Amino acid sequence: MGIQEKAKEILASLPPGVNLVAAAKGRSAEEVSQAVDAGIKIVGENYVQEAEKKIAVIGCRVKWHCIGHLQTNKAKKALELFDMIETLDSLALAGELNKYAVKEGRVLPVLIEVNSGREPQKSGILPEEVEGFLEQLAGLANLKIEGLMTMGPLVSNPEEARPFFRETRLIFEKLKGPPRANCEMKYLSMGMSDTWKTAIEEGANLIRIGTAIFGPRT
Ligand SMILES: *Cc1c(COP(=O)(O)O)cnc(C)c1O
Repeated sequence: MGIQEKAKEILASLPPGVNLVAAAKGRSAEEVSQAVDAGIKIVGENYVQEAEKKIAVIGCRVKWHCIGHLQTNKAKKALELFDMIETLDSLALAGELNKYAVKEGRVLPVLIEVNSGREPQKSGILPEEVEGFLEQLAGLANLKIEGLMTMGPLVSNPEEARPFFRETRLIFEKLKGPPRANCEMKYLSMGMSDTWKTAIEEGANLIRIGTAIFGPRT
């Protein structure tokens, strides 16, 4: 199957309310265009430079999400490029993004990245620290915290990912409760090519898929 057919097949199988992000790292603008022609509405990029090249070709026909770790010194560029940052993982980054958002007179939607596997080599906020982190974002009026994102550990069987998705969803549900000024918990971004079905069962409404659309990365 080609990119278009694979993208269409996944889109057709999604329950209502679940949004697909095409994870496009390492793919050409041509490949991403094919996915867009098939109905993809959101493209996820891990690197600012790569995003910039593809946005120049594809433009605002789709929404662009940052799904990779974002260095604080790239905040300004990221604000110019992305519609949403799914990987907010530090107060320093939040401060920089808010600073430039204020300058641009813009409100930037962000998701907090949760390190659900508590893996030292991965970025993201530890599950038990997410609520405190959210409270520290309260004064950053030009950020809109719209949910949580998690990667979870690399697993060989999707069932092994379930506890990490479940824990993230429980945090999401908890934070949904009390109203906060710059926060509206709408999106739970979890699940990749091998795990998206499990992620949806555990409440994901944003899934990020690369390989199952574009084929294996070379
Ligand atoms: C690459 C990537 C994905 C997609 O991974 P696949 O296994 O290719 O579907 C999802 N999320 C993030 C953050 C990624 O970097």
